[in-house]
Amino acid sequence: MTHAFNQLTDHVYWLSPDSTTDRPVLGVIAGATGSLIVDAGNSPAHARVLLDQIDAANLPAPRYLVVTHWHWDHWFATAAYNLPTVAHASTRRILAAQATWDWSDAALDARVAQGAEIAFCRDMIKAELPERNRLVLRPPDLAFDGELEIDLGGVTCRLIHVGGDHAADSIIVHAPEDRVVFLSDCRYEDIYATPRRYTVANALPLFDRLLALEADLYLGGHEPAPLLRPALVEEALRVRHAGKIVERIGDDRVAVIDELRRQGNLMLDEDTLDCVDAFLAGLRKGG
Ligand SMILES: [Zn+2]
Repeated sequence: MTHAFNQLTDHVYWLSPDSTTDRPVLGVIAGATGSLIVDAGNSPAHARVLLDQIDAANLPAPRYLVVTHWHWDHWFATAAYNLPTVAHASTRRILAAQATWDWSDAALDARVAQGAEIAFCRDMIKAELPERNRLVLRPPDLAFDGELEIDLGGVTCRLIHVGGDHAADSIIVHAPEDRVVFLSDCRYEDIYATPRRYTVANALPLFDRLLALEADLYLGGHEPAPLLRPALVEEALRVRHAGKIVERIGDDRVAVIDELRRQGNLMLDEDTLDCVDAFLAGLRKGG
């Protein structure tokens, strides 16, 4: 497994993801009085990679850990940091419960059979953490609703609850002085549904909120490179366009695609079709 630790701006650093075992992007915002870490990682080994890089780069000592949403890959490593850990109130509630669950192979298999867990996460957990007997799951200690601002000595971290289809508890971390946003997974589809789904009610306002932030650089939770603002603008247009047409035409894939063609849609590529399918799935769910 290879990760790259990169400096993005004056105060922002990030560790690249690894899709082999679904390790997400981890972030560091470094201020005069200490550093804030964005997401714990999916195992003690993953956290160790980040902590070693923080040491090697001589960054200010970590003071806070932020967990962006309840998915295992973002929080399983919390105990490796021994830091005050902040999350949205829903995230803290969900993780306090999950910390008491049985995470053995048998229990995971049973939850997948019951539909309470998806095979993808089970398989990734087994791959990243084949041995889980001594795994300590430490839920967040601090919780907020809405927005929380943390000052790192002239460097601000804005934790903002944005929700979305991927996870209703999703927060983003905005570093306004550096014009960077850690998006984590907030703008992805709901992966716990098959097929993955988007809803107009959640996805469209979410993209509006992300673009309303004073920012030039956005880091997605599982993407190998930062997104420049124009790329997020383009993505938001595609999502809005697909969502609006599905909303108007309804659950008729052929008619939706005909309408996109009729409009001479230049963006009728694979990404747009994926987007249409996600909105159609959201419609069927009654979203
Ligand atoms: Zn996620």
